[in-house]
Amino acid sequence: MTRTRIAPSPTGDPHVGTAYQALLNYGFARQRGGAFILRIEDTDQARSKRAFETAILRSLRWLGLAWDEGPDVGGPFAPYRQSDRLDSYREVAEGLLRDGRAYRDYADGEGGAFAIRLRTPTSGRIALPDRLRAGLSKDWESVDDPVLLKSDGFPTYHLANVVDDHRMEISDVIRGEEWIASLPKHLLLYEALGWEPPAFWHVPLLRNNDRNRSKLSKRRSPTSLDFYRDAGFLPEALVNFLGMLVWTRASGEEKFSLEEFVARFDLASISVAGAVFDTGKLAWLNGRYLREDYDPVGIAALLRRWRYDDRTLEQAAALAQPRMKTLGDFGPLTAHFFADETPLDPALLARGRDASEVAEWLLLAEWALEGLDDFTEAAVHAALRGVAESVGVKLGPFTRPLYLAISGSAASTPLFGSMVLLGSSMTRMRLRRARAALGGVSRKRQKKLRARRSTA
Ligand code: GLU
Repeated sequence: MTRTRIAPSPTGDPHVGTAYQALLNYGFARQRGGAFILRIEDTDQARSKRAFETAILRSLRWLGLAWDEGPDVGGPFAPYRQSDRLDSYREVAEGLLRDGRAYRDYADGEGGAFAIRLRTPTSGRIALPDRLRAGLSKDWESVDDPVLLKSDGFPTYHLANVVDDHRMEISDVIRGEEWIASLPKHLLLYEALGWEPPAFWHVPLLRNNDRNRSKLSKRRSPTSLDFYRDAGFLPEALVNFLGMLVWTRASGEEKFSLEEFVARFDLASISVAGAVFDTGKLAWLNGRYLREDYDPVGIAALLRRWRYDDRTLEQAAALAQPRMKTLGDFGPLTAHFFADETPLDPALLARGRDASEVAEWLLLAEWALEGLDDFTEAAVHAALRGVAESVGVKLGPFTRPLYLAISGSAASTPLFGSMVLLGSSMTRMRLRRARAALGGVSRKRQKKLRARRSTA
């Protein structure tokens, strides 16, 4: 039976790349009457967060890409979260140690603690079977001995991923081509354990719509699924757009439903040239859905579901009320809640200060907000106060450009409450856009700031 999976690591905002992988795995399994599994790979203790896991599940469900087995719905191979399966990885690593296929590495631990590493051949070449590319291979000489179990007893990605794909009886591993580099290690693990490897399909990565077609990054385009939802994109348009990157109808018609995609796309014939994530094209497609699939009553229903629900209106009213003289003031005061972008004026944002300095404030603010588990007014306030202190500026002048970035005007609703109502994803996107309008912060400078932050 065909069994596919996605195995996201909950270390950040739910990513469009995860949705793209989910679509391909979902489609492939559905075509064959198989099962599609969602497994959470949270073995990176320092970076994994339960809030990110929740957000991944929520956004995939929003897109309609339902899984048959997963941490929330259970299934025959539960649990589906790797941090709940730690014993099984340790057991496998110790077995490899006993068989002489792995060895202890004390260099990695302290006071007698050790990591367990897989012994790789020192010469020869390994063939890398991939359903989308013929003739891949790699010299063993260039492959280092991978750590399987860290000295803290946690497995690495390589070990946990292989053990679970085997135990969960995954037949086809469909994942991004960035993992081809790990394939020699994975194949060696299957061989050492006496397990039959699944079929591998390494699919093209999402790429920026720029000249060198670099890997999709949030520096270039929004990558958070929450952002697209909050900006007013429709789930069916987003799914159609992701499908369009690998399949189109012979007629050239680019608009199609998930059902049609699942029935007709052919994984074996997708192009490996790279899937360009063109946000302009996504907006165009979204517009077609709004115009062609909904009448005004339907649009009104979409709006209510998006932001014009009673709760949001009441929260916006609470923020606008102190400044309202007439009901008519509500619209201009709260326009930024019901919009994707706000107007940005670099001169106004910087107002006499060095644009690069203000751009750095915006970056530091974005980072501070990114780390918040609870996006509440108190938490936002405390986080931004911390950043203001760290750059030696009073909270008032520090938040002025943030206010403009969020609301697009000098006369709007209070900052912290506005951020909470907009949500973390949209808030950070606006800070990022304002930073870009100010000329941005160089990569080199970002590295420095990051280092300074982690030692602070
Ligand atoms: N946890 C890996 C990731 O986050 C999974 C890679 C795979 O599909 O094997 O991308």
